[in-house]
Parts: sequence; C-alpha cells; structure tokens
Amino acid sequence: MRIDVVTIFPEVFPGPLGVSVLGRAQARGLLELVVWDLRDFAEDRHRTVDDYPYGGGAGMVMKPEPFVRAVEAIQRAASAGTTGPDSALRVLLASPQGRLFTQAQARALARLPRLVLLCGRYEGVDDRVADLVGAEEVSIGDYVLAGGELAAMVIIEAVGRLLPGAVGDEASVTEESFSTGLLDFPHYTRPPEIRGRRVPDVLLSGDHDAIRRWRKREAVRRTLARRPDLIDEASLDEESRALLRELRERRA
Ligand code: SAM
Repeated sequence: MRIDVVTIFPEVFPGPLGVSVLGRAQARGLLELVVWDLRDFAEDRHRTVDDYPYGGGAGMVMKPEPFVRAVEAIQRAASAGTTGPDSALRVLLASPQGRLFTQAQARALARLPRLVLLCGRYEGVDDRVADLVGAEEVSIGDYVLAGGELAAMVIIEAVGRLLPGAVGDEASVTEESFSTGLLDFPHYTRPPEIRGRRVPDVLLSGDHDAIRRWRKREAVRRTLARRPDLIDEASLDEESRALLRELRERRA
C-alpha cells in the first residue's frame, strides 16, 4: 500500500512511523510512505499557504489552491502506470469536524492500494477543499489538535499494522479490541504474583477450554463495564450472547 501525506511540516515524518511494526512494514515494502510539502504547491515566491479569514476573526485559514494542486500532482503520480479501479484515489482530510475514525474504517482502508491524507493547521482548511479534491473529512477524536500531522500518523499506524504480513502473528490483529466489536480480554505475564496481586488462577491451570471461556467472558464483562455503547453494535456469537445475558441479569 502507498500512503501520500500533504503537510506544511514534512520533517515530522516518519517520526514514530519509522520504528517497530510500521518501520518494518516500510523496510519490507508492504507500506510506502510519501510525504509532500504543501508549500511546494503554493503559487507565489513566498510559498504562502495561508491567508486571513473572510469575515474577519482570529487566526489564519489554509488556502485552497495548494491543496488542489498537491492532490492533482499525487493523482498524476498515481495514474502513471496504473489504470482501472485500483488507480482511484481515496483522499482523507484530517479535521475535528469529520467522521470519527474507527477500527472498522482502518480495516476498510487497509484493503486499498493507495490513500492520501491532507493535514490542516491554523484555523483549518478553506471549507471548499474537501469538495474540490473529493476528500472525506476524518476526525481522530472529539478534541482539537494544533495540526493534522498527528491525526495522519494515527490513521497511518492503525491502517499500516493491518496490512497482511505487517505483524508477526495475524491473530494479534484479528483477536483484539474492536475486532468483534468488544474490548480485548485482560493480558498477564510473569510473575504470577506481584505485591499481592495474583494472575487469575484459570490462566495458570493449563485447561485451554477453561481459559478460552474465561477470556470470552472477560471481554464481554469489560466491554459492558467500560464501553456499554459498543455492546449493541457488536457481532457476538451465541456463547458471548449467553454470557452477556448472564452478566446483565446479575447486574439487574
Ligand atoms: N478551527 C477548527 C475547529 O474548531 O474545528 C480547528 C482547527 S485545528 C486547530 C487545525 C488542524 O488540525 C485541522 O485543520 C485538522 O487538520 C487538525 N486537527 C485538529 N484536531 C483534529 C482531530 N480531532 N482530528 C483530525 N484532525 C484534527
């Protein structure tokens, strides 16, 4: 997969994306990260990318032309040598006003051959940009960052680790929080006891079926306690549904 990022701070990449799972994915050619400096697409010799807001008020707004020109350049690079549906580019614009980014969306994006991420700064990007370049606005959470670069990194890491072969054991990304709509079960390692806190006995029992059932139950119990909003949307098997009924009856 190739991901193009457009930013006025190209020097912050790859940053954390250069190490561990994402670093290895790039070294092995599973992921190609291409970072573009938005200022290279400015139209004046001062490389201006922002301007005063129409209507007045605080701060500066990012100009539309450099984003349009950048996406056109990326589109040209994308279509060189590729034709057909794979050459269609998916463009995301980081914005606190966008659709909330989820694991389900990360999974869908990880199936694409290419992705473009646009990073805003200042008061944000001229509101016509998303429409002009066919971008979907995406938010990584209900808070406001100073710029879209960290949001882009979050999206790239969430997507990149799902690329086939990126993590050593595929089970790590198929049996984790949000994969079935539930939170993950709790994990423990040695020692079996630390400062009076013991690992649950069942995990030391060697009884694989009992461990499997305990983990399933804990995933349901945790989700119900911590993120009850997820439960109704989760795709639960019959065993998990029975556990949910039992836990709800106990709480009632
Ligand atoms: N004035 C905007 C508002 O109140 O909605 C906030 C602009 S913010 C200071 C500057 C840039 O940071 C945005 O254009 C966007 O690219 C990025 N950004 C900030 N918060 C974000 C979030 N939660 N998710 C994704 N991008 C975000």
